[in-house]
Amino acid sequence: MIHLRPFIFILAILLSIQSNSQTDEQVIREIYTQSLTNGKSYDWLNHLSNQIGGRLSGSLNAEKAVAYTKEELEKLGLDKVWLQPVMVPKWVRGAKEYAYIETKSKGFETAKTTTVNICALGGSVATNPLGIKANIVEVKTFEELKALGEEKIKGKIVFYNRPMQPELISTFEAYGGCVNQRYSGAVEASKYGAVGVIVRSMSLRLDDYPHTGAMSYGDLPNEKRIPSAAISTNDAELLSTMLELDKSISFYFKQSCKQLKDVLSYNVIGEITGSEFPSEYMIVGGHLDSWDLGDGSHDDGAGVVQSMDVLRLLKESGIKPKRSIRVVLFMNEENGLRGGNKYAEVAKQKGENHVFALESDSGGFTPRGFSFDCSDANFNQVLNWKPLFKPYLIHYFEKGYGGADIGPLKTDAVVLAGLRPDSQRYFDHHHASNDTFEHVNKRELELGAATMTSLIYLFDKYGVNPIPNQKAIKN
Ligand SMILES: [Zn+2]
Repeated sequence: MIHLRPFIFILAILLSIQSNSQTDEQVIREIYTQSLTNGKSYDWLNHLSNQIGGRLSGSLNAEKAVAYTKEELEKLGLDKVWLQPVMVPKWVRGAKEYAYIETKSKGFETAKTTTVNICALGGSVATNPLGIKANIVEVKTFEELKALGEEKIKGKIVFYNRPMQPELISTFEAYGGCVNQRYSGAVEASKYGAVGVIVRSMSLRLDDYPHTGAMSYGDLPNEKRIPSAAISTNDAELLSTMLELDKSISFYFKQSCKQLKDVLSYNVIGEITGSEFPSEYMIVGGHLDSWDLGDGSHDDGAGVVQSMDVLRLLKESGIKPKRSIRVVLFMNEENGLRGGNKYAEVAKQKGENHVFALESDSGGFTPRGFSFDCSDANFNQVLNWKPLFKPYLIHYFEKGYGGADIGPLKTDAVVLAGLRPDSQRYFDHHHASNDTFEHVNKRELELGAATMTSLIYLFDKYGVNPIPNQKAIKN
């Protein structure tokens, strides 16, 4: 004899839950609807980009961006909004750089100069005030440089011209294959007595924009630090062709950039305190600083405003998080990562249990999905949610990199994730003067914010499961 009463009882409970709460499909639909009809991300980005502009660490604009985003977060009625102090490096570009290629007079041909587009790399020293002029040697790899050695390099300018590989589908992978020329090119070239470094811009497009970005001298003594600059891809092609025809050409460049003393700045943080597990933290963020050439709309104004909108969209969609959800707008990702390091340092000091961190720092383009830096077991939890994102054409769920600013939080006890937008156009704009507001599409930006909010909603509702290594939390 089967007892039906327990089954009827359970069914009644299930039906009552169903009638009181929405399904995940319905909640996520509501999040996307809110973002696409009532989103704030684009308006915020308009202000950051067009009213404030480029936000290099330590600049007045960076401080304006701190004040503006704090004020906007305060308007959202979050439980807490605060500034987290952090000392940041201050590098200034100075007067606009100037460069030309010079050919020698030969026979009937007179000497000729052709001006080219360059910009100093972030962290570089200046040239002497009159600029430097020297013969120039093209290489594609550090091995090639080493093979040429001091004999061929001493007293010359090294021109790194390894392009990003166009056949790679992920442009980030193509970037990864080239960026050591920019970051370590000066250190390597100075080993052989080079007097300066010119690096092909990290872009897949042929155009006239030089792309800046961080470089490092490591622990090189001051007298060994040689100026380094990026050259536009069009001018890199020109320079390479001219060198092929005539090795005796010289290159002139002048830049007046400077590293000043560190200055006080801030991470901007807002929080919705969790209703059931307030001491479990989930964060979402992007970086508030940017390079100075453009207005930093894609890198990373987009990530900043999307992250702000995550907390607003949760509220607008009537979601009351069980866990504490924070938006963190990190300062100084581009040339120091001081904000990301400071946030993790303070979290550790306070013993805050961070279980999930999501970063958006790959541009404001159409979202494709996420990459996850976590255990296989935690990744399986995420894969179960994949069908919920299908209606929004979000399909990319892979293990991989989370992001630079959330990286310092990494332990076995936290799941890290990065939003992965379409990457095809990102490096057309990255760190260049055409990283500007008009290149961000409103709907693409809003779809990204909704995609991020949906993932935060799911992690908050179900918790990070299985619970990551508790031992790591205590360490
Ligand atoms: Zn960035």
